[in-house]
Amino acid sequence: MAKKTIGILGAGYAGLLALKVLQSKAKDVAITLIDRNDYHYEATDLHEVAAGSVKEDKISFPIKDVVNPNITTFIKGTVTKVDKATKTVEVEGQAPMTFDYLIIALGFASETFGIKGAQANALAMDDVETAQAVHTHFVKQLEDYRVTKNPDNLKVIICGAGFTGVELLGAMAEHKAEYAKIAGVDASEIKLMCVDASPRLLPMFPTDLVDYAIKKLAQKDAMILSGKGISEVTENGIIFKDRETEEEGELNANTIIWTTGVSGSHVMQDSGFDARRNRVMVTPELQDPEDDHVYIVGDVSAVMDEASGRPYPTTAQISLVMGHTAAHNIIASLTGGSYEKFTYSSIGTICSLGNTDAIGIVGKSSKVKGYVASVVKKMSLNKSLLETGGVKELLSKGRFDLYH
Ligand SMILES: Cc1cc2nc3c(=O)[nH]c(=O)nc-3n(C[C@H](O)[C@H](O)[C@H](O)COP(=O)(O)OP(=O)(O)OC[C@H]3O[C@@H](n4cnc5c(N)ncnc54)[C@H](O)[C@@H]3O)c2cc1C
Repeated sequence: MAKKTIGILGAGYAGLLALKVLQSKAKDVAITLIDRNDYHYEATDLHEVAAGSVKEDKISFPIKDVVNPNITTFIKGTVTKVDKATKTVEVEGQAPMTFDYLIIALGFASETFGIKGAQANALAMDDVETAQAVHTHFVKQLEDYRVTKNPDNLKVIICGAGFTGVELLGAMAEHKAEYAKIAGVDASEIKLMCVDASPRLLPMFPTDLVDYAIKKLAQKDAMILSGKGISEVTENGIIFKDRETEEEGELNANTIIWTTGVSGSHVMQDSGFDARRNRVMVTPELQDPEDDHVYIVGDVSAVMDEASGRPYPTTAQISLVMGHTAAHNIIASLTGGSYEKFTYSSIGTICSLGNTDAIGIVGKSSKVKGYVASVVKKMSLNKSLLETGGVKELLSKGRFDLYH
């Protein structure tokens, strides 16, 4: 009997976890994994590349390291479309791939919400290349300052003080002295700002933890400006409206980074999936409601959390569990086993404020902050790395800088 073919699109958290489970448990299958890169990257660490804290190779590893060539073929290519009717996947410049089962795990992309000038003038931080580009751009501004003496070269505006924006601000604040050295100025002249429309930041954390984060960042002269809705991004700044006073204001900087939110991959819309912000509302078993051989996981999917009555957030932790569930259910379909519904119980959420400071909730409601929280964060990053890459990648890329 011909082997059943399983396609996995995307070698992020969800895709690699699904691969790991299928490679170890599925029998008589041929897997094809497709990613636009030949490396996996830990998206949760992109802000550290953008800030210059780590080099890109510290947060990535070759996909071939986790591929079993006896079962899996890896294709480096960009997926452009999924055609469910013909069970094929179109890959830019390559022959289409056919499948019996498919796991779509194509991840996230920055969302500009149609804000004028954002696409053209703000830098995204979607993947390793764009995170690197943020760092290269800022360093160039700092170098140019030596000639131009334009204070805007020393300024950064991070648009969006959600999880990603705050983590980036915290990471950049740690490097002010190094940035200042490149420009030949005092560290106090480097201006880091993070602007957000919401008056209440990081709603997933209690107010006292958020206040702690704002205070600690302000002590490093990294300012969060809340309640300011960005209406336009220009070539060298932003225009915003104060939510309370309704007054318009302007801030200038030659480095503007966009972290206001993400949607799923555009491939979902391009393929005609019934998607909102490129996320498909899947069944509890993580299947496309229109095709039970197509599983949609990670940031391209939305699954209802019955406890809260809202879809689960899009996180790496949830993506890993989804990858596992989808793989389990494909094996169940092949072997006549029982399907499992997606369930998730959070082990906690930690937002870093630099390398040795963080805020978070561990378990259901235990608050942590400061150095202890930063250690918990590194342990959770190590756990993800172990799950996607195994012991080899953990030992070479793990975060063991716990003591300072
Ligand atoms: C700075 C930052 C910090 C974060 N911190 C946390 C955190 O602390 N905790 C947490 O749980 N979550 C965090 N997140 C969110 C988390 O990173 C995402 O939820 C997670 O990456 C989603 O995983 P995924 O497997 O769905 O997709 P991704 O990790 O985005 O992987 C998608 C994969 O698909 C590939 N791909 C995309 N498009 C194509 C295409 N067209 N063709 C071929 N390949 C393609 C990509 O190369 C990538 O390998 C953070 C995100 C950011 C940006």
